[in-house]
Amino acid sequence: MTKSLTGDVAIVGGSLAGLATGIGLARAGLPGNVFEQNAGEERGGTGLGVDRTLIAETTGVDARVDGLTPALPVVDEGDRETSTWLAIYRWLRAVADATDGLNVHESARVDAVSSDEHAAHLSGANVSASAAVVIGADGYRSA
Ligand SMILES: Cc1cc2nc3c(=O)[nH]c(=O)nc-3n(C[C@H](O)[C@H](O)[C@H](O)COP(=O)(O)OP(=O)(O)OC[C@H]3O[C@@H](n4cnc5c(N)ncnc54)[C@H](O)[C@@H]3O)c2cc1C
Repeated sequence: MTKSLTGDVAIVGGSLAGLATGIGLARAGLPGNVFEQNAGEERGGTGLGVDRTLIAETTGVDARVDGLTPALPVVDEGDRETSTWLAIYRWLRAVADATDGLNVHESARVDAVSSDEHAAHLSGANVSASAAVVIGADGYRSA
C-alpha cells in the first residue's frame, strides 16, 4: 500500500539516529514521519557506550527513569555506562511509538527525494510523501 502523507519533517532511516531525532523534534512541536526500509527489528550493532543524560537532552525523554517507557538498562563500568545496541533501539522505538506527532513506517524505502518551491517530495516502492524538511538518517551504509 502506498502511503500518501504531508508532514512537517520526514526522516529517512528508523535506526538509532532517525528515531532519536524524530522523538526530539516531535516533542519540540515538529511532527514527522520516519521511513525505514526494513520491517521489525534488525540488529545493527553490538555493545555501545551510552550517555543517558545526552539521550535525555536529545529526545526530551529521561532514559534514566521509568516514564513513557521503562528506563534504558545500562551496565555501570565505573568511568562510563554501556548498553546493547538492541536495548537502545528497543527503548527508542518504544518511546517513538508513544510519542504524539511521530509516525514510524516500516517497509518504507525511500528511493528518491526532490523538491519544489512548496516542499520536498519523497518516493519509493511504498512511499509517496511530502515534507517541509527531509533529514537523512540512513546510516553509514547509505544508499
Ligand atoms: C566507525 C563505526 C563504529 C561503530 N562502532 C560500533 C560499536 O562500537 N557498537 C555498535 O553497536 N555499533 C557500532 N557501529 C555500528 C552501529 O550500529 C551504528 O553506528 C549505529 O547503528 C548507527 O545508527 P544510525 O541510526 O546512525 O545508522 P544505522 O543503524 O545504519 O541506520 C540507518 C537506517 O536507515 C535505513 N535506511 C537506509 N537507507 C534507507 C532508505 N533509502 N530508505 C529507508 N530507510 C533506509 C537502514 O535500514 C537503517 O535502519 C559502528 C559504526 C561505525 C561506522
